[in-house]
Amino acid sequence: MTLPSPDGATPAMAQWFSLKAEHPEALLFFRMGDFYEMFFSDAEAAAGALDIALTARGTHGDIPIPMCGVPVGAASSYLARLIRRGFRVAVAEQTEPPRKPGKGGPKGPLARAVVRLVTPGTLTEDELLEAGRQNLLLAVASRGGRGTRGWGVAWIDISTGTFETASVPAEGLMDLLGRLDPAEILAAAEIDLGDFAARRAPATIPPGPEAARRRVAETFHVASLDAFGTFSDEEAVAGAMALDYVRRSQAGQMPRLSRPQAHENGGVLGLDPATRASLDLLRTRDGGTEHTLLASVGRTVTAPGSRLLAEWIAAPLTRDAAIAARQDGWSWLIEEGGVRAALRQGLRGTPDIARALARLSLGRGLPRDAAAIRDGLAIARRIAQALTDGRTAPPALLADAMRHLGEATDLETRLKQALAEDLPARVEDGGVIAAGFDAELDAERALRDDSRRVIAGLQNDYAQKFGLASLKIRHHAQLGYVIEVPAATAPRLRERTDLILRQGTASAARFSTEELVSLDRRIAEAAERAATRERRIFAALVREILDEPAPPVIAGALAVLDVLQSCADLAAGGMWCRPEVTDDDAFTLTACRHPVVEAALPRSERFTPNDCVLEPAQRVMLLTGPNMAGKSTFLRQTALAVILAQAGLPVPAKAARIGVVDRLFSRVGASDDLARGRSTFMVEMTETAAILNQAGPRSLVVVDEIGRGTATLDGLAIAWSVLEAMHSTLRCRSIFATHFHELAELAESLPRLSPHTMSVREWKGQVIFQHEVIPGSARRSWGVHVARLAGVPEPVVRRAARLLAGLEKERAVGARPLPLFAPADSTPPAEEPDPGVPEPVRRMLEQLDPDELTPRTALDMVYAIKKLM
Ligand code: ADP
Repeated sequence: MTLPSPDGATPAMAQWFSLKAEHPEALLFFRMGDFYEMFFSDAEAAAGALDIALTARGTHGDIPIPMCGVPVGAASSYLARLIRRGFRVAVAEQTEPPRKPGKGGPKGPLARAVVRLVTPGTLTEDELLEAGRQNLLLAVASRGGRGTRGWGVAWIDISTGTFETASVPAEGLMDLLGRLDPAEILAAAEIDLGDFAARRAPATIPPGPEAARRRVAETFHVASLDAFGTFSDEEAVAGAMALDYVRRSQAGQMPRLSRPQAHENGGVLGLDPATRASLDLLRTRDGGTEHTLLASVGRTVTAPGSRLLAEWIAAPLTRDAAIAARQDGWSWLIEEGGVRAALRQGLRGTPDIARALARLSLGRGLPRDAAAIRDGLAIARRIAQALTDGRTAPPALLADAMRHLGEATDLETRLKQALAEDLPARVEDGGVIAAGFDAELDAERALRDDSRRVIAGLQNDYAQKFGLASLKIRHHAQLGYVIEVPAATAPRLRERTDLILRQGTASAARFSTEELVSLDRRIAEAAERAATRERRIFAALVREILDEPAPPVIAGALAVLDVLQSCADLAAGGMWCRPEVTDDDAFTLTACRHPVVEAALPRSERFTPNDCVLEPAQRVMLLTGPNMAGKSTFLRQTALAVILAQAGLPVPAKAARIGVVDRLFSRVGASDDLARGRSTFMVEMTETAAILNQAGPRSLVVVDEIGRGTATLDGLAIAWSVLEAMHSTLRCRSIFATHFHELAELAESLPRLSPHTMSVREWKGQVIFQHEVIPGSARRSWGVHVARLAGVPEPVVRRAARLLAGLEKERAVGARPLPLFAPADSTPPAEEPDPGVPEPVRRMLEQLDPDELTPRTALDMVYAIKKLM
């Protein structure tokens, strides 16, 4: 966006131009009185995005200056909308108090400065954040050149104080981005962010490794970064980039962050973005949160709990001991029903301690944030008590949490004494600190209130003295305390020398006395001193809160407890099991279900559970069956079972035994990448290549319809060779769903291939999908039936059925080899064609796979046939 030259600007606009120049990439909220005003292109962009009126204010170079504004009191809702629309906002406040008119002193506009840059990755206010999601700022630094050898990544959630780093191999960046789903990404321009490109922050220049280490160490007041573990140069650079950005966005203020924690490599199930997208783990592809895995398993009762559950689902583990520790936690809570109920009850309504702490550490804390710490600590202490009621000793994860819960009782007591019962929204409103907490504050308040009482008494005295029953003493914003009388009676008072006329209007006259003026000054001064004292006490309390190390730890412990009770609550119903996660190649799911599809079924329908056995002797399952029979549901539920099991969560099955999976690949459902200008087939093959290049014997691959994007023969050939590679070269556990029934014949040459099909019944000419996976292969095609189901006109369907019958007869008699080896147009017909069917039609039909037909192509086909007959 281009701006006019600042030459010739008025003083206020010159100030605007200079602040705008500091933050050219952001909309500038320019504080003027009770509004944040925007000018020029900022105003045009914001007026459009917020649907507010665009006006003009003065001129610049003879041209009116476009302007729009939002009231300060309602700014956060406007900010939220702008951030969601991808804007960044620089907030410029008045940094000197409004001047009293006519007192001389400095001229020109009030001093202003940008006090905050609001960007998607640096939010702290509840109004701008999603309660149940973390909100990450992530930085990527490359190791030499373009990151050919790997990346250093650092991520910060300033709303909770998390700060973590990781080193990832060259090809691992997208997996990590998919897992963390950052709101904003800092990366040099030449780093390709793929699908995450839209979240890139304006470019910053990364510091050198030495400077970066120094800067991170300084931020945490340690001599060397080594104090916190081993960090690669790239991790340090990424860390420094993220810290610099945060510092800049908070205008130099640094929120309190946890000490940087380097993530160990590995230990996490590999999931690429395509896999995540196909499984709707935390969000569906259209961004919804309702029909997701998280929603179907989540029984958490607090926002931090639901954030942690989302993290567990996004990053399932690969170490069986770590998985078992989580399982032990919720299994114990299933046994200890009383403790579970108390825990669930106790956690309800727990405030978000981590986010309150973050705001307090940024000097943005409200009275309710301090109250959140007070209430959170009280709840934690009560929960610690409830946990000791178990009949058996709690397992490690719970015992750990319990140990921390009661660690800040002193702070809790102090906050209870300090904070008033009914808290105002802002500290400036007064009344935050309870009476009796601070003697000096109490004294100032008493002085203020006593003087008020004296004034209230004065009204009677004056009324008698001046003989005016209608006389009132009122407080006036500009005049302070004044005597107010109706205008009609004013002349009687005007002569009195002990009264000073302050203001006369058509309806009333206002006077003051020396006594009133001095009382008024005493009240104002006492009130001012009380307010200052109160602000000082609140600031000291905030420091006490931040100096106490326990609250963040307690917040973490409460989140773990919430997730564990959520699991126990889910599994206690008996429909979810504790899977056995082993260190071998096992894979047996018994009566497994798809939790999201199951929940979405209408009441009249029951979900059909299915077994899935991919044990070493039959590790590749070939699944055939018509569309709508339940293939993709089966593939997805198998992948979801692995994710849940390795996240340490209950699995929707009767029983499950899963040898730890190192990488999971899921390619299910139409991948729609046309927007990026790649054909569907190209996308399909790129994704297939990714699997073939990365899957190994510990991986699980579930793929749907490989080869569908190209001509039948091509597709069959490709599906065939991919299946062979998975079976014999990669040796991964896999399910391969296909409409190429011919592939089932491969079972004879591939010993570990187990053909399965979706059972389908025909009843009175209708297909009935039973959603049951049974051994064997699809005997026949159901495309014609699906065509009828879809509403293709009956004569066309019937004609197609007749044609199909003819074709099937032909195949049976001819026992033709697979078309792969005998291109259709050179195959000698096994039987004389029907005299009624001309050769071109016969050939056309021969090449056609009814299963592949969409109603539209079937119809086109019928027209073509008609033309040829
Ligand atoms: P396909 O991939 O074979 O075309 P889907 O897996 O998309 O079929 O399933 C189609 C619909 O059938 C689903 O939306 C769901 O409503 C229903 N369905 C699938 N599997 C089951 C099942 N096991 N039990 C009950 N209904 C199912």
